[in-house]
Amino acid sequence: MQQLLRRIIRLGKVTEELDLPEKAISTVNALSTGSIKLRHVDCGSCNGCEVELSMCFSPIYDLERFGVSLTASPRHADGLLVTGIVAMNMKGPLIDAYRAVPSPKVVIAVGDCACDGGSFSESYAHAGSCGDYFDITLKIPGCPPEPSDIIRAIRRISAR
Ligand code: SF4
Repeated sequence: MQQLLRRIIRLGKVTEELDLPEKAISTVNALSTGSIKLRHVDCGSCNGCEVELSMCFSPIYDLERFGVSLTASPRHADGLLVTGIVAMNMKGPLIDAYRAVPSPKVVIAVGDCACDGGSFSESYAHAGSCGDYFDITLKIPGCPPEPSDIIRAIRRISAR
């Protein structure tokens, strides 16, 4: 026991560096959680990002072992996991879901479409990206991003 305590004192807190904007860090600190529940909102993706996301929660990558889980209700969530461009018909539901998440909350944009419109930014059905409606805490670029990239990025928030 003493050996363990000495080791804890010697090493201190061993976590990964949080490479996020200052505002996002204060939101994450306010959550002050070792686990995080996310509500996934597909705002109009091609489903490529969903395939990679489903792999993250598969037995192979098992993102839940890091305390990250999906929830069906935004009212039970710490934040939103957004994929796809904001299609015209998803603008209202996205804003409703954002308002339903209790504060402080995080918004994680997965894929180029969610980050800045990506391949569909010229589409007539494009009503912007989620960053046009609220602050994005964490952007995970890629078309689609690989599961390992998604997990590495989300752990910057959950491994606090
Ligand atoms: S980023 Fe690529 S894979 Fe993801 S929704 Fe957009 S086009 Fe599809």
